[in-house]
Formats: sequence, structure tokens, C-alpha cells
Amino acid sequence: MNKQRVVIIGGGPAGLMAAEVLSTSGHSVTVYDSMPTFGRKFLLAGKTGLNITHAEAYSQFVARFGAAADKLRPALDEFTPNDVRQWAAGLSTETFVGSSGRVFPKVMKASPLLRAWLARLTAQGVELKTRHRWMGFAEDGYLFDTPDGRRIVHSDAALLALGGASWPRLGSEGNWVPWLREKGVPITDLRPANCGFDVDWDETFRERFAGVPVKSVTATSDAGTLPGEFVVTVNGIEGSLVYAHAVSLRDRLERNGEASLLLDLMPGRTTERLARDLARQDTKASLSNRLRKGAGFEGVKTALVRMVASPGDIIDPQRLAELIKALPLAVVRPRPIAEVISSAGGVAWSGIDNAYMLKALPGLFVAGEMLDWEAPTGGYLLTACFATGRAAARGIEAFLDR
Ligand SMILES: Cc1cc2nc3c(=O)[nH]c(=O)nc-3n(C[C@H](O)[C@H](O)[C@H](O)COP(=O)(O)OP(=O)(O)OC[C@H]3O[C@@H](n4cnc5c(N)ncnc54)[C@H](O)[C@@H]3O)c2cc1C
Repeated sequence: MNKQRVVIIGGGPAGLMAAEVLSTSGHSVTVYDSMPTFGRKFLLAGKTGLNITHAEAYSQFVARFGAAADKLRPALDEFTPNDVRQWAAGLSTETFVGSSGRVFPKVMKASPLLRAWLARLTAQGVELKTRHRWMGFAEDGYLFDTPDGRRIVHSDAALLALGGASWPRLGSEGNWVPWLREKGVPITDLRPANCGFDVDWDETFRERFAGVPVKSVTATSDAGTLPGEFVVTVNGIEGSLVYAHAVSLRDRLERNGEASLLLDLMPGRTTERLARDLARQDTKASLSNRLRKGAGFEGVKTALVRMVASPGDIIDPQRLAELIKALPLAVVRPRPIAEVISSAGGVAWSGIDNAYMLKALPGLFVAGEMLDWEAPTGGYLLTACFATGRAAARGIEAFLDR
């Protein structure tokens, strides 16, 4: 057996998956992580249910990765959503398909799975080293800050699985970007993905409605028209419907400096019917009363209409109905990357070969969210992190066997 030393830096889903593959085939593997425990973001994902993969048709699943779908496809083919479910079951975590097609562990959390996973890795001889922060390259190795001071680690091959730059307090800080750039690795700037957006609420609206959900609407952007709900926050808007439009809103803001989500606040009624219902209301009644009786609106939807409507819209049932069916909500900027679910950008595909090895640094591989791909929420992120972790591990095996 070819027992060579492999160093994995970053103990999230991608790094741990690579460790599993490499230790199964008998390599000596050490995983280093800067945090006191492994998989902190994985655990946080578990706090909101842990959406581990998605059960939609596989071709559609792959298409969710947009521009990177073709690049990721070979890795995903080798570790499909079904494989993710079987793998979790092998670690005593049974999964189920929710009504949206999203796949969750029956226990709706990540901790039992992570515990079993780390136990498997330890049993397979993987050395797990916490509180080891990678600080960049030393002349002939990798420089770490450890509880016992600075240390240089040498290896026959190494994997970086450092994550993106969201939620830095869980470990992924994006501090690797300049170190790799300095070595000639092409990197697309890290940007927020699956993010909320700031909206210029007026003070009264913000005070009254922060935290209130806006339910049963559709929202339209370049991403298409999608049904769902979102939440008003102190700064703007958050929630699954917003995340589904995040790429298109973010890219439009970058291109044009402005972007809007077009809301249909009453998707179940046509404009004509709504205009008729509003026209039947007493013209002397307040806007709130007319919207309550004519459209069944309360609170936040009425306030959104009031915020955008001109005086002319308010008195004209036809114009009011048109506004309710296509209310433009201008977003100002994405929320800061530190608080979003995932990041876009990262190591460019042109910088790695088919085995996930950096062309500029032979023997060093990359996997997970630090690569330049993005996907919506729904289990796509974790599946691609697992799959690229495995693919990079196979690449390392081939490199060591060469
Ligand atoms: C709130 C939230 C909910 C989410 N929910 C879901 C979900 O339900 N489904 C889904 O598919 N995805 C979800 N995600 C996204 C998913 O968790 C990430 O895409 C995934 O964890 C990325 O895996 P990774 O291994 O690439 O990186 P990470 O999980 O970020 O792991 C990287 C590791 O590298 C370590 N590290 C970084 N820099 C250094 C360094 N210099 N030295 C040593 N170690 C370092 C970090 O400490 C960390 O442990 C969620 C994310 C968030 C924030």
C-alpha cells in the first residue's frame, strides 16, 4: 500500500470528505483546522434543519450550478444526491425528502452525523488537529500558527478546503486569497451569494415591520417569476424567495448600479378582477380600508403599497391594481459577505486541472466552496462540497501514484 503523507487544511464538509476517501485507501492523512472544533459551518447549517441534498431530477440538479455546471458535473456524477443519502445512512443518519424536494436528516440537525463522521475518520487513522491556523506558504511547506507556536508542515500532497468568506467567525475567513494570488493562482473576487439585500425603508416602516413576513407573493427578476415569501428586516429583505433572486439582483446592481424585485402581492387574482374589487370601495375611505376590503390586505402589504404608490395611483383603482400586481421594490446592495449563507467567486476553474490540482502549485489541490461556483440554497452547496472533496482526493491519489 502506498502510504504517503497528505495534509488537508480546512475541516469542513469538503476537507473531511477528502480525508475519508484518502484514509480509506490507506494514506496517512492529517486534517488541520484553525478552530477549536471541526465542521462549525456544517453544524450551523444543521441549526436550520440541514438541507443536505436535493431530490429533483438529476439533470435539473446539475443545472442549478449555472455557469459552473459543466465543470462540476464529473465530480457530481461520482457523488450524486442519492450517494449523499446513502453515505449519510452509512453514518446512521437517515434522510427524508421534504415537500419541496429538499433532503433533510430525519433528526433535522447535523451534530449526530458530524460526530459519527469524525469517529469514522479517527478509526481510519486520520489525525485531526484543531487550533492550527494555516498562515501561508513556507519555503518547503505550509506555515501554521499552533498553540505551541509557529510550525512548518511538510507533505507529499496537500488539499486546501478553506471554504469561502461567509460567517468568518466559524472559521472560513477568506484570508487565503492573497496567498494564492501571490503564487499566480487566478482567483475571482469572493462576493455574497444566497444573500439578503438592503432596502431604503423609511424609519416608520422599519420600526413597525422589521421581522414581519410577507407571505404568498411572487417575485420577478432576471431569474424569472418565483412564488414564496420573504421577511422584512431592519436593513432590508431576507428569506428563501430573496435568495432565489440573489444572483440576478447582485449582478444587476454590479452592472447598472440599481436593481428591483417586482412583487405580485396578490398572485391569486388578476389585475382586472382586483381593479373591479377596488373600484367597488368607497372612494372617501382610507387607502388601508380600501385595500383591506378590496384585496384582503393587512399591515405590511398595505405599507409596501403606500411606500411605492404615487398620489395618482392611490385614487385610481386600475392603477392601484396594477401596482399591487407589479410592485417594484428597489434593493440598494447585498448584505455584507460576513453574514450571508455562501460566497460566490474563488479559485478560478482555469487555475486547476481536471483533478482539482492547482496548475501553479503542483501537488496542492483545492475543493469545496473556495472554488469559483455558486448555487442556490436547497442542498446544492453541501453536495458540491462533498463531491469536490472526493474528486480532489481521487486527484491526490492519482498524483501520489504517478
Ligand atoms: C447559516 C448557514 C446555513 C447553511 N445551510 C446549508 C444547507 O442547509 N444546505 C447546504 O447545502 N448548505 C448550507 N450552507 C452552506 C454550507 O454550509 C457551506 O457551503 C459548506 O459548509 C462549505 O463547505 P467547505 O468545506 O467548502 O467550507 P467550510 O464549511 O467553510 O469549512 C472550511 C474550514 O476551513 C477552516 N479554515 C479556514 N481558513 C483556515 C486557515 N487559514 N487555517 C486552518 N483552517 C482554516 C475553517 O475553520 C473551516 O472549518 C449553509 C451555510 C450557512 C452559513
